[in-house]
Amino acid sequence: MPISLQLQASLISAAARNEFPFPQPRPSSQPLTGEGAPSKSAEFDPKIFRHNFMRRNDYNRTGYGHKDESLKRMRDQYSSDNLMQKLKENGKEYRRGEVTLKLGEAYGFCWGVERTVRIAYEARHQFPDRTIWLTNEIIHNPTVNQTLGEMGVNILPVKDGKKQFDLVGKGDVVVLPAFGAPVQEMMLLTQKNVEIVDTTCPWVAKVWHSVEKHRKGEYTSIIHGKYAHEETIATASFAGTYLIVKNIKEATYLCDYILGGALDGSSSTKEAFLEKFKFAISNGFDPDKDLERVGIANQTTMLKGETEDIGKLVESSMMRRYGVENISNHFISAKTICDAAQARQDATQKLVDDKEVDLMLVIGGWNSSNTASLQVIAEERGILSYWIDSEKRIGPGNRITHKLMHGELVEKEEWVPKGPINIAITAGASTPDKVIEDIIAKVFEIKRDQE
Ligand code: SF4
Repeated sequence: MPISLQLQASLISAAARNEFPFPQPRPSSQPLTGEGAPSKSAEFDPKIFRHNFMRRNDYNRTGYGHKDESLKRMRDQYSSDNLMQKLKENGKEYRRGEVTLKLGEAYGFCWGVERTVRIAYEARHQFPDRTIWLTNEIIHNPTVNQTLGEMGVNILPVKDGKKQFDLVGKGDVVVLPAFGAPVQEMMLLTQKNVEIVDTTCPWVAKVWHSVEKHRKGEYTSIIHGKYAHEETIATASFAGTYLIVKNIKEATYLCDYILGGALDGSSSTKEAFLEKFKFAISNGFDPDKDLERVGIANQTTMLKGETEDIGKLVESSMMRRYGVENISNHFISAKTICDAAQARQDATQKLVDDKEVDLMLVIGGWNSSNTASLQVIAEERGILSYWIDSEKRIGPGNRITHKLMHGELVEKEEWVPKGPINIAITAGASTPDKVIEDIIAKVFEIKRDQE
C-alpha cells in the first residue's frame, strides 16, 4: 500500500545513510486511494517508483549487445562436453562399471539463471574498467559467484548486518541479482549516479505484480516463502500489508487464528500471533483487521504442492469465515510458481518414484531455495539423499559432507557402497553442468578405488 511522501523521504535518507538492516520489515501501510497513478494525496507507490526507475538512462535490464560472446564464455566456464553430453544422448541414463546414473528430466541451469548470468557478463564486457558491484549473490551457486568474483564482479560486503553501500562510488556499475532487490535499495541507487544493471528474473517480477495487485485491492499479501530470503525480502518491499508463512504448519496456525480456533480449538492470542510472526509481517500488522481480505503470493522456488495446499487452506478458511458467496471479496490468488522450479520438482518426483534408485545426489547451492525444495522431496520420500554444492564436499576417500533439508550438516564415511549401484541425480536451477560432471567424476574415482 502507499507510503506517504514524508516516509518516502525518510526511506531515501535512511537508504543514503545505509541504515537498512537485512532482512528488514516494511513500513506500515495505509489504505489505497488511487488506481496505479501517484495519488493527489502524495502517496508513494512502489509500482510507479519501479516503473520510473526502469526508464532511467542509467538503467539496463536486457544486456549491451554482447550476448554471443557472453554465452560462449559461459559455455567455456560452466558447460561440460563429455559425461553430461553422454547422459543427454542416452536418454538421461548412463552406465560405467558398477555405476548406473539416472539424471532428472529437468535439471540444472534454468533460462532465468542463464539470462541473469549472461547480462552480468555483458556488463563486465561493456564496462571493462569500471568497478562492478553485486547487491547480493547473483544466484545461489558458489562456483558461479566465485567465477564472477574472479572477473571483478564483487558482492557488496555486509558489516553488522548492513550492506556497505557507501563503498559504491560515482560511475560504478551495480548489478541487481536474479532474486531482485528491495525497493529501498533501488531508491538508494537512484541517489548514487551509477549504472544499474537489473537482472531480476521475470518470474520474480511476476510475483511483484501479484503483490502490487493485492496492495491496490487492499488485500493483505500472504507470501509463502522464507522471510530472510533475498527474493522474499524484495517481494515484501513491493507489497502493502503482508505476512510471510514458511510452510503449511505456519499457514494452519494462521488459518486457525482466522477461524478463531475452529481448526484445532487452540486459537492463539493476538500477542502470541504477533510474537510468532514478528520477523514476517509488515509494520503495524494487526491480525484482527489485516486478515479480512487476503491474497496469496509466493517465493518462486518454494515447493509447488505446498504453495497449492496453503492457497487451498487459506481459501477454504476464508470461505468458512465469510461465506462461499463472498469469497471473491476476501481472497485472491494467481499462479506464480516458476515453470523452471516446478519442472525440476516434477523431475525429482519421478526419480524418487523409481524403485531401482539406491541413492540420490541433490546438487545445488546450500543457500539455494529451489534446491532445498528438491532435497525435501527426496527426504520426505525417505530416499537416501546427499545434498552437496560442489565436488569439494566429497573426500578425502569415500567421505561426503552434505546438508539435510532443515540445514544440518552431516559427514558420512563410506557413502558410496560397494557393488552395483543406481544413483539418481537432480540439480537446482542455478547449478552449472560442469559442477554436476565434477561430482560424478568423484563418484567414479571412489568406485575405481574400490576395485
Ligand atoms: S528458478 Fe525460476 S524464478 Fe528462479 S531464476 Fe530460474 S526461471 Fe527465474
